[in-house]
Amino acid sequence: MTAAVPAAEPGTWTLVVADRIHTFAGPPVQALVLLDDRVAAAGDPAELRERFRPDRTIEVDGVVVPGFNDAHAHPSMTAENLLHVNCSPEIATGEDVLVELLRGEAAAVGEGRWVIGSRYDHTKTTGGRVVDRTFLDRAVPDHPVLLTHVAAHWGVLNSAGLAAAGLTRLSADPPGGALGRDGAGELTGVVYEQALFDISYPSLARGRTVVPASTLDDRLRGLARAQQMFHAAGITSMVDALCGPDDVALLAEAARTGQLTLRVSMLVAFPHYDRVAALGLRSGFGDDRLRLLGVKGFVDGACAGGNCLVDEPFEGTDDHGMQTMDDDDLRALVARVAGDGVVLAVHANGDRAIRKLLDAHEAARAQGAPPRRHRIEHCSLIDADIVERIRRLGLVVVPFGSYARFHGDKLVGYYGQARLERLFAHRTLLDAGIAVAGSSDYPCGPYEPLAAITSCAERRALDGTAIGLSQRITVPEALGLYTTGAAYAAGEERSKGTLAPGLLADFVELGRDPFQVPPAEIVDIPVRSTWSGGRLVHELP
Ligand SMILES: [Zn+2]
Repeated sequence: MTAAVPAAEPGTWTLVVADRIHTFAGPPVQALVLLDDRVAAAGDPAELRERFRPDRTIEVDGVVVPGFNDAHAHPSMTAENLLHVNCSPEIATGEDVLVELLRGEAAAVGEGRWVIGSRYDHTKTTGGRVVDRTFLDRAVPDHPVLLTHVAAHWGVLNSAGLAAAGLTRLSADPPGGALGRDGAGELTGVVYEQALFDISYPSLARGRTVVPASTLDDRLRGLARAQQMFHAAGITSMVDALCGPDDVALLAEAARTGQLTLRVSMLVAFPHYDRVAALGLRSGFGDDRLRLLGVKGFVDGACAGGNCLVDEPFEGTDDHGMQTMDDDDLRALVARVAGDGVVLAVHANGDRAIRKLLDAHEAARAQGAPPRRHRIEHCSLIDADIVERIRRLGLVVVPFGSYARFHGDKLVGYYGQARLERLFAHRTLLDAGIAVAGSSDYPCGPYEPLAAITSCAERRALDGTAIGLSQRITVPEALGLYTTGAAYAAGEERSKGTLAPGLLADFVELGRDPFQVPPAEIVDIPVRSTWSGGRLVHELP
């Protein structure tokens, strides 16, 4: 267990020797010297040994790169999900397996308690058909059931779940949300956006959630599992892109008790900004383990869920997607947070949504809001006008790193081939000189950065379909998204992103050199060990 690996005494000099070390701050070397949790020097092992007389030596066989930094994911949500049943397509390989998983969970949770499954993907598990309340009633009749979609913007309830939520055919759609209905107006059990958040997402619910909250001890257990998973993929830092008070409490307790082995920068969900402002907290508050990055807002739905807000309708429909915050509220949020000089990170996927966000930023800037490294989360569908406005405002963009590969199959249907050349437009954005960071949005996409690097360099769906080949980037550029790019996007480039002297000794030992294998094979490189501040947090058995 990583938590049991002790930190060295303060003032300890450590020599790290490897086959090859890519510091991302100069030519490859074979050794680093660390003083406590930071890099002090890089160079030749014999010379560094002579110069620093280290107290201890760590020898690794593989190729070392800076620790991976996921600029947008959901570790506190994952901590909660890992306490329930995982319905990821890799596990729920078909309808029968899904039913078995839900029944197994019902037997495990005890009589009448909620059965909650996450990461359901109808395109992979149920042949493109979204399950409804009657399907879930047949699977589990006597417990309330909530099955959330992999993109976490909609879910499905069974009849007991709808009853527990007090939803009937007479219920109105909540603001910013919707209830799925059949042709006769009956509820299908599908709940979209705010209607889902009120049921199970404390950070965005308008009151107490319908599903009772887990205890802090349970969530700490879930967080430990989540961190193990992330470290095993080489991740040392992550932005938690949606924190409510319970999530801040979870992460703070983990940090206080030495259980937070991941470095986390928090985006507080916009409904809680009043509390942040009242305490006078600003971006950067905290330390190298747990920091406040800023505030998270939303404009539209999900990219891979096919309900983001787009100028041209989704292929073969007249549907332009969903706006989840209206124009006036969006302008007010941007004016207030940006006006306070706090970093604002707003989820905007579709081109129409991004334009609305840019309108709000331009208005705030005209009103005197100071320039900050505000972020557009996802920024999925762009065009030349959007790129130019982002560049002028100096915004940072955080597109999905692995969606071309993982969600490619459904993207062709939603957006059509031509639009895929403007989706997750890494090439265009980097060429425009815009700061770009790598992100998984896990649990909405796979968390492994090496898979994302293959995805960004290849732009192929798992079945080989081309997903906007004009947006391919090089392997060094893709590695940059998950190291230097992510550090810049969180305002942390003075402590993370490279292994230059003075920066944190967060690094990963890989089984092969990513600069020397074909891009398609990077996804299969083993992560042999992961180190945070010179401490081992993961090792391959
Ligand atoms: Zn997210």
